[in-house]
Amino acid sequence: MSASNHASAFVLPATDADGRKNLVGLSREELEAEMLSIGLEKFRARQLWHWLYHRGSTDFAEMTTLAKPVREKLADAYIVARPTVVKDLKSADGTRKWLLRMPDGQEVESVHIPEEDRGTLCVSSQVGCTLTCRFCHTGTQRLVRNLDSAEILAQVMLARDMLGEWPAPPDGRMLSNIVMMGMGEPLFNYDNVAKALKIVMDGDGISISKRRITLSTSGVVPMMERCGQELNVNLAVSLHAVTDELRDIIMPINRKYPLRELMDACRNYPGLSNARRITFEYVMLKGINDTPADARALVKLLEGVPAKINLIPFNEWPGAPYERSTAKAIQVFGDIVNNAGYASPVRTPRGEDIMAACGQLKSASLRLTAAERAAIANVIAEKDAALAS
Ligand code: SAH
Ligand code: SF4
Repeated sequence: MSASNHASAFVLPATDADGRKNLVGLSREELEAEMLSIGLEKFRARQLWHWLYHRGSTDFAEMTTLAKPVREKLADAYIVARPTVVKDLKSADGTRKWLLRMPDGQEVESVHIPEEDRGTLCVSSQVGCTLTCRFCHTGTQRLVRNLDSAEILAQVMLARDMLGEWPAPPDGRMLSNIVMMGMGEPLFNYDNVAKALKIVMDGDGISISKRRITLSTSGVVPMMERCGQELNVNLAVSLHAVTDELRDIIMPINRKYPLRELMDACRNYPGLSNARRITFEYVMLKGINDTPADARALVKLLEGVPAKINLIPFNEWPGAPYERSTAKAIQVFGDIVNNAGYASPVRTPRGEDIMAACGQLKSASLRLTAAERAAIANVIAEKDAALAS
C-alpha cells in the first residue's frame, strides 16, 4: 500500500442524473480542457474560476460576464455541486458543526470555530480514518474511504455559503483559517488534499494563504517532506507520547514510523525557522502521559526543532478508554514546557455540547452496550492488522 493512496479513492462526483459533470475541484488546467472539449475557448476557464471560487456562484445563469449562449452551453454540460447538509448544529460557544452527505451517501463533518474577528474551519480528509489512535473516536469507525479533492474543497465552499462570505470580505472574514484536523489522516490521502488546498490558496479565488492553513498529521513520515515542499503549509504533528513504548500503544502508526524517524522528518520539514515552527499536539490523558517527567522528556525530545506545543485536554466520547488530566496536572505540565522556552497554550475545548471538539467527530452521544464495545475492539484489531501488513 502506498502512503498517498491508503484507502480506495473515489472520483467524485462525477455527474448528476442527467450526466452533467461537476466542475468543483478541477484544477485550472482541467477546467481549460473541459472548455475545449465542449467547443468553448480556453479563456472561459479563467472567467469560470472567478465565478466558482471568488463569487461562490452555483448557477450558470448568474454568470453575467459570460454571453447567454455560453451560459446555456455550460448549463447543458455541467453542474456546480455542493454536498447536502444533513445537520447544522450550533454550540452554545458559537462553534458550528455541519454533517455533510456526499453523493454516494457517505457522511463527513466539518467544524467552524469562530473567534472575535476571524474563524477557523476544521476540514476532514477521509470518511473515518485509516488509523486507530486509542484516544480518538474517529479511529473506531470501520468504514474508511478517502475523500476526493472536490469533496475536501466542497467543505470550504459550503462553509462560505453558510457564513455568507461570498465574495470574501477583505477584512474580518469569519473563514480566515483552515486546519486539516477533521476526520482522517490527510497524509494518507495526500494527492486529493494537495489538489484541494492548491485551489483554496489560489489568489484569484478563495485565496486563503498557506500561512493560514495548518495540516495535522499523526506522523506519516514518508509524506512529510513532499507536503512541505509542494504546499508549504504549516505543519502540526500529533505527538501525544514521548516514548516509543507508549506511543506504540496509543498511536499504532508509531510501530511503522517510530519517534526517531518522526523527529528527523520534523527537523527536515522544508521552510522551518523560529518564525515558522511546527506545532506539536499533545493530548492530556490522566495518568498516562501527563506527569512532570513526561513534560521534561518532551522538552528534551524537541531539542533543536523550532516548535510550539499545543496541550489538548482529552475530549471524552462514549466508550473512550481514557480520562482527561486534571487542570492542575495540565498546568504543571504546561509550566515546565513554558519555562523551557516553548509556547504551550492549552487548547480550550470548543463545541463539546455538539460533539464537535477534537477527536469527537462522528460520535453519537450514547452509552455503549457490551456488544458495541466488542464491535469497536474488533474494528481496531482489523485496522491495526492492516497497518502492520
Ligand atoms: N489525523 C490527523 C488530524 C486529525 S485529528 C492527526 O491525527 O493529526 C486532530 C487532533 O485531535 C489530533 O492532534 C488528534 O490527536 C487530536 N485528538 C484526537 N482525539 C482526541 C480526543 N479525544 N481529545 C483531544 N484531542 C484528540
Ligand atoms: Fe486518525 Fe488522527 Fe484520529 Fe489518529 S488522531 S485515529 S490519525 S483522525
